[in-house]
Amino acid sequence: MQKAKGVLVILSGPSGSGKDTVISELKKRNVDIRQSISATTRPPREGEKDGVDYYFIDVPTFEQKIREGYFLEYVRYGSNYYGTPREAVEKLVNDGISVLLKIEVEGAGNIRNVFPDVVSVFLIPPSLDVLAKRLRGRGTETEESFCSRFAIASHELCRASEYDYVVINDDLDDCVKEVCSILDAEKFRYSCMKPIVDEILKQTTTE
Ligand code: 5GP
Repeated sequence: MQKAKGVLVILSGPSGSGKDTVISELKKRNVDIRQSISATTRPPREGEKDGVDYYFIDVPTFEQKIREGYFLEYVRYGSNYYGTPREAVEKLVNDGISVLLKIEVEGAGNIRNVFPDVVSVFLIPPSLDVLAKRLRGRGTETEESFCSRFAIASHELCRASEYDYVVINDDLDDCVKEVCSILDAEKFRYSCMKPIVDEILKQTTTE
């Protein structure tokens, strides 16, 4: 029996919307989805591991890979490059495994152009107050960097209209359940079910 294709899912949202918390909760609950590992030219932060959090590569290597068509999409974000390796994502999806991309809005737009069946989810905080509290709660911010991150994050909220789904991250458990219900429904899209439909149509019957 043919397998359905996996779903390619983008998860975006402003800084402070809780993307990492939601993703780690999906992992804890053994949700059937793999997170793609991006490549970046930014240096690793404390605790980050090469090949686990990102593939950390230098600018000439990244630019060489762009020329080779290695990336499904890439962006320059701040002073660094970030990109999604194409081969691993395509193989997983064709093997029936759903893949999650945690990428920013420009990259999400680029993926839609090359992968029209992608499902995009935008995570938002329940209010600007909560967003501000979460950004301050990180405790790593100077007042100046807090203000700039808050301004960027509130501006990014306007990009919600570009996404298929918007999920509010207020109560984490509800939010994770809502993301799971999107994943569950999207598995039954025709684009995922096509290999199975095609196989049934090829069959002959003795009835
Ligand atoms: P950070 O440096 O905080 O890990 O990531 C900065 C931003 O880049 C985040 O919004 C993250 O989701 C996004 N990002 C990470 N990997 C990729 C990627 O492969 N492509 C794009 N377009 N954005 C990415």
